[in-house]
Amino acid sequence: MKDDKVDTRTLLEWSAKYHTPNYGRTPILLVRGEGTRVWDSDGREYLDFTTGISVTSLGHCHPVVTGAIREAAATLLHVSNIFHAAPQIHLAKLLVENSFADRVFFCNSGAEANEAALKLARKYGKEKLADDRYEVIATNNSFHGRTLATVTATGQPKYQHGFEPLMPGFKHVPYNDLRAMERAMDSHTAAILVEPIQGEGGVNVPDDDYLPGLRKLCDESGALLIFDEIQTGVGRTGRLWAYEHAGVEPDVMTLAKALANGVPIGAMLCRDEAASVLTAGSHGSTFGGTPFVTQVALATLTTVIGDKLPERAARMGRELMDGLRALQPACPVVKQVRGRGLLIGVELSTPAAPIVDACREAGLLVLSAGEKVVRLVPPLIVESADVRRALGILNTVLAKAKA
Ligand SMILES: *Cc1c(COP(=O)(O)O)cnc(C)c1O
Repeated sequence: MKDDKVDTRTLLEWSAKYHTPNYGRTPILLVRGEGTRVWDSDGREYLDFTTGISVTSLGHCHPVVTGAIREAAATLLHVSNIFHAAPQIHLAKLLVENSFADRVFFCNSGAEANEAALKLARKYGKEKLADDRYEVIATNNSFHGRTLATVTATGQPKYQHGFEPLMPGFKHVPYNDLRAMERAMDSHTAAILVEPIQGEGGVNVPDDDYLPGLRKLCDESGALLIFDEIQTGVGRTGRLWAYEHAGVEPDVMTLAKALANGVPIGAMLCRDEAASVLTAGSHGSTFGGTPFVTQVALATLTTVIGDKLPERAARMGRELMDGLRALQPACPVVKQVRGRGLLIGVELSTPAAPIVDACREAGLLVLSAGEKVVRLVPPLIVESADVRRALGILNTVLAKAKA
């Protein structure tokens, strides 16, 4: 622990020197978190509306999560999936009992959950539909991860540049465009992959008929409907799963981010029919669903459900969204406020980055989503007082910005 003595400036220099340079990091060093707040190495307090990119939904160091981490770490950390372990079984059961799904596969990240869904789609297409049904149709501006398959599925060239050749077997169509999806589907289509609300792509909420329309297209063609709920799931949008807003269910759903409140986990949930192609040995992960991480996820999900946090997200989301809309007349830089629950985007007429920086300097951490959208993803435990404080800072910053 002798590095505790190293001053912040030196640490930031070492960060630039010793890390691969693939992150554009904010120049602060965070040292502690509690609830809706984090503190940097200079003792400055910030209201955290980034939640580690929509991960720490119960806030920082929630006692239930910290307790589960302590207990699990002192009981059984890891045994691999060649053995059974109780927390993994309890978590799978809890997920199934609270969703459309019959079965769950555990992994370690969002990309891996989508990777599992994509492999499932290919095997399902081949074995249940026809030999040449391998293609996955995804949407422009989507985000599905950084592995080669998931970055191929991601409909944003900026994430793909330099990594070509990309994977074969993917197509992209505009989001929220049923006609385009219908036209793109053909005798090769194995699955449609979409986010119920696009997160990284700008907090894009589709029309009410979009997800039901995709369901219908999949029912007609036999293709699997895969919802990437890595960002929208676990209560973020005001329902436990975002698909509940649409009144339709997917065949496959992927989760990660908030599922264990910051301990790395991914999950792929599916129906029996789809799961049946994942025969013993066909897919796997060494770390996937360790007793440790699943104990923490179990504590997290039990708290989200038991404390009715999706309802809370809906209520607090309305407060925040109403407040943001009320700022609009005084802040001409704001073009649109959109979102659902506590996944909120503020579209600007100018780049979001300077606004994100100005908010941080005023004590509020927020994200961007694409070039011109400020993204707000507070923890689901956020209080009205926090919302008012954030609105005050946003008002000051946005009113000063030139449209
Ligand atoms: C974050 C995210 C991913 C990727 O998750 P990682 O854990 O970073 O691999 C995939 N899809 C969506 C919708 C996401 O928001």
